[in-house]
Amino acid sequence: MIIAVASGKGGTGKTTVATNLALVLAQKIKVQFLDCDVEEPNAHLFLKPELKSAEPVSIPVPQVDRERCNYCGLCAEVCAFNALMVGKETVLIFEQLCHGCGGCAYFCPEKAIKETSRPIGLLERGAAREISFVHGKLNPGEALAPPLIKAVKQTIASFDLTIIDAPPGGSCPVVEALQGSDYCLLVTEPTPFGLNDLAIAVELLKKLHLPGGVVINRSLGGRGEESIVSYCRNERIPILLKMPWDRELASLYARGEPAAAHLPAWGELFAGLGRQILEDERRAR
Ligand code: SF4
Ligand code: SF4
Repeated sequence: MIIAVASGKGGTGKTTVATNLALVLAQKIKVQFLDCDVEEPNAHLFLKPELKSAEPVSIPVPQVDRERCNYCGLCAEVCAFNALMVGKETVLIFEQLCHGCGGCAYFCPEKAIKETSRPIGLLERGAAREISFVHGKLNPGEALAPPLIKAVKQTIASFDLTIIDAPPGGSCPVVEALQGSDYCLLVTEPTPFGLNDLAIAVELLKKLHLPGGVVINRSLGGRGEESIVSYCRNERIPILLKMPWDRELASLYARGEPAAAHLPAWGELFAGLGRQILEDERRAR
């Protein structure tokens, strides 16, 4: 089973939920953890894996053979990402815009385009005790996260459970991280921004036909929380856990310590969450 943990916005506690869930469930089943939040991976700060290997991840980018090119402009026409510009006697390639789709090389009538590779990040593997751990680290300034996320997901192996820590938001990297999952846990906070971004994330789950449930972090009651509860009721999406505001939890987070490993009551909460997800996913099947 593959569970993705996502959030419509950053800073909701997504990684706190994902890492604690991995720790409690790893006591019973074989767990693999993939940190696909490649722009800002931080699950390793909490799981503290021993990293055993690192491999660069690259994407193919075009290289034009000027001897063969007749400057017909077809490559620029087929490029959906405006990564090519053809002048009278020049072809400009904007590598940062190139998605490595290979379309330009495929359609070039003169076979003037070869592919070379451009590194976009690093994939590191290791283990955090019994948890198999993989994360991607996007190069600073690099905009193209999906190919690195894809590379991280290609390491999915036959564990009882794979937990994917998805990037925040609702754009292409999130879609890449969520695709192929069996269930998605959406972590939100009881604020108007939290509700707005939760609604975007729920729409995305609908488009991906992905069952999901909600965790409300920093739960304090009040109107903000009531709005989220009412929204979830209308959308028929279950609220699986309300994580109360807890100073001790925040203090552990600041020190990079997972709550489940230090506070038994929180360990119980996350274990209960794990049980509910497994039941919910079974019901949704
Ligand atoms: S399609 Fe091929 S021949 Fe035409 S401009 Fe591009 S590289 Fe040159
Ligand atoms: S490989 Fe694809 S994205 Fe890159 S320049 Fe060619 S057509 Fe554009």
